Amino acid sequence: QSFDEMGIKEDLLRGIYNYGFEKPSAIQQRAILPIVTGRDVIAQAQSGTGKTSMIALAVCQIVDTRSSEVQALILSPTRELAAQTEKVILAIGDFINVQAHSCIGGKNLGEDIRKLEHGVQVVSGTPGRVCDMIKRRTLRTRAIKLLILDESDEMLSRGFKDQIYDVYRYLPPELQVVLISATLPKEILEITSKFMTDPVRILV
Ligand code: AMP
Repeated sequence: QSFDEMGIKEDLLRGIYNYGFEKPSAIQQRAILPIVTGRDVIAQAQSGTGKTSMIALAVCQIVDTRSSEVQALILSPTRELAAQTEKVILAIGDFINVQAHSCIGGKNLGEDIRKLEHGVQVVSGTPGRVCDMIKRRTLRTRAIKLLILDESDEMLSRGFKDQIYDVYRYLPPELQVVLISATLPKEILEITSKFMTDPVRILV
């Protein structure tokens, strides 16, 4: 299967090929179609499988770039991963004019607020910072339709469980959820059963 056969919008396809990708990796082949057709997805995958680009592609396909509201939220265990995901979204989404921003601890909050006021469709962040910004109402959640939990087992082992549940409580009820994790311990399965509806399961 090729990227052309996934129903991806034309300007996003250009971005993918321009980024240097020729054909989808295994996780991209199996996860992108269910995600863009609106399914909840549990992907058991490690880093190095192409999961970051899979996330970038999925959010770029799903957001409406004519709207200036945040529509997709990605939570990651580390600042580095959150920033890297933002970078790949901006690169692949170059031709669709997607606006993305990473909300991560250790950076100036005022800058985050200014950037969000200018209109972004995608936020990539760490659970602590994102939770804080939602509670301060500087990150508006009403238009969020897709939540991606990246490296979920790692987020739990770093103690972010309460923040993840807190963030989830602020999101609209009609929410699509994609969970990525290298392992699926009991606490992850609790999240999948609480947050997700009839998820597609993918093991790569
Ligand atoms: P990731 O697991 O997303 O961090 O990706 C690992 C590496 O594989 C990164 O250097 C990506 O740029 C690269 N990569 C991801 N998807 C593809 C693809 N479809 N074709 C070629 N390289 C890819």
